[in-house]
Amino acid sequence: MAVLEIVDLHVQREGKPILKGVNLKTGSGEVHAIMGPNGSGKSTLAYTLLGHPKYEVTQGKILLDGEDITEAPTDERAKKGLFLGFQYPTEVSGVGYSHFLRTSYNALSKSLQSSNREVFITVREFQNYLKKNLQTVGLRDDFLGRYLNEGFSGGEKKRSEVLQMAVLKPKVSILDEPDSGLDIDAVQAVAKAISDVSTPDATVIVITHYARILKFLKKLDYVHVFAQGKILKSGNAQLADELEQKGYDWIVKA
Ligand code: ADP
Ligand code: MG
Repeated sequence: MAVLEIVDLHVQREGKPILKGVNLKTGSGEVHAIMGPNGSGKSTLAYTLLGHPKYEVTQGKILLDGEDITEAPTDERAKKGLFLGFQYPTEVSGVGYSHFLRTSYNALSKSLQSSNREVFITVREFQNYLKKNLQTVGLRDDFLGRYLNEGFSGGEKKRSEVLQMAVLKPKVSILDEPDSGLDIDAVQAVAKAISDVSTPDATVIVITHYARILKFLKKLDYVHVFAQGKILKSGNAQLADELEQKGYDWIVKA
């Protein structure tokens, strides 16, 4: 059975239609890439999957493990195992980074039954787990003493989104342009973290504009070309190479 399934999804924002019939099926253990030009609606899709209130579903549905979550509130979707790494992460002053991660991890552990969720008895055990993950994404331990994203550089914010995914171990992760604005070392670190999280229990969807990050992924099962509010073409990892060489026009204009 599909884990996340999107059926004929139409979405508008402030009366303007943006998504125009998105169809996608993802299974457990799969890594998908959604690639497309700027302004095509990729972030709109990501926000809609998590239930952003400004995005109105006018047709179609979203299923998670066969259950219709099209109208479910965001926190319910998160508890069922959906995660979104933002393209533009928000600074949340006053919310301690490690406290935020621990609270979120424990909330997810209550609702997700998965063999890969460790039980951390003490705060120190959890801190050690966080430090291991900080190292994977290339952030220093002192980030744990800061507020969520506050004063993080652009690149640190992107690493931080991926760190949250690595730590929380959601069932389905959607990463919205985790590579934008990063130098090549950071792109590699982010790709490594994504590969680490790509277990048989997890589904990962990487939204990106460039093929660059995809080359560093250990596993990539499907590439989807997204333009004009829908998926126009799907293929395997080779399609990403083709897009890198030829751009998007040959598909979008066809
Ligand atoms: P992508 O992530 O592929 O670059 P977006 O989903 O961000 O695309 O945007 C899709 C379309 O929705 C664009 O035409 C964009 O201008 C429009 N859009 C995005 N955000 C807003 C907003 N806050 N208000 C009105 N239109 C928006
Ligand atoms: Mg976007």
